Amino acid sequence: MYDVAVIGGGPAGQSASLFLSRSGLKTLLLDNEKGLTQRALLKNHYGTGEITGTELVETGRKQAEEFGTEIKKAQVTDISKNGEGFAIETEDGETFEAGEVILATGANAKLAERIGLKTKAGQEKYVKTVIETDPDGHTSIDGIWAAGVAAGVSVHTIVTSGDGAKTAINLISKRKEERYIDHEAVPAKK
Ligand SMILES: Cc1cc2nc3c(=O)[nH]c(=O)nc-3n(C[C@H](O)[C@H](O)[C@H](O)COP(=O)(O)OP(=O)(O)OC[C@H]3O[C@@H](n4cnc5c(N)ncnc54)[C@H](O)[C@@H]3O)c2cc1C
Repeated sequence: MYDVAVIGGGPAGQSASLFLSRSGLKTLLLDNEKGLTQRALLKNHYGTGEITGTELVETGRKQAEEFGTEIKKAQVTDISKNGEGFAIETEDGETFEAGEVILATGANAKLAERIGLKTKAGQEKYVKTVIETDPDGHTSIDGIWAAGVAAGVSVHTIVTSGDGAKTAINLISKRKEERYIDHEAVPAKK
């Protein structure tokens, strides 16, 4: 049983996973590895300089894994309520259990529609449908959150990765019943 399952391993899902794992939550990231960010040449991602999408996503994956996220390649086909949490089914017939779920599935709204989440029209021409969320990232189903392009934010890596972090911080804060902060300082010089 995982605390949180993140579906989608683009910038939003990886960034969410990194924060979730660092906060001590047992986190599973399921991604079908069909993301298109690998084709991007990013010149507008603050703080990295020019970087390819492949480098960004590989670094993000390493960071999330380093902090404890379990990453598996899988096409998620269904999510259903299971006691206190959710059962997550994959195309290969595997089932994973998690207390909460973050959907970070990019421009592909098939899974959201299948499980009956409220959706709305996307704003960019190649994002037809996005998941309806409140400002914190809650969807119409309690315990399921959404982040990144799936949640309708601007299709830029700096925005989607920030939105993944934001949603994770809101989920963690709700569990801890106080605003969560993840800060570290450079050790003082002796
Ligand atoms: C060619 C190209 C160039 C770009 N150039 C730039 C640029 O210069 N600057 C910039 O800021 N942005 C650029 N972008 C946009 C940027 O890549 C996206 O906005 C950003 O990656 C979206 O992040 P995300 O995590 O929300 O979604 P995504 O990166 O789309 O990640 C979603 C992931 O979820 C997976 N997934 C979906 N459904 C399922 C499922 N049911 N089960 C398992 N996995 C699933 C997808 O395959 C994907 O891996 C570019 C995009 C492309 C395609």
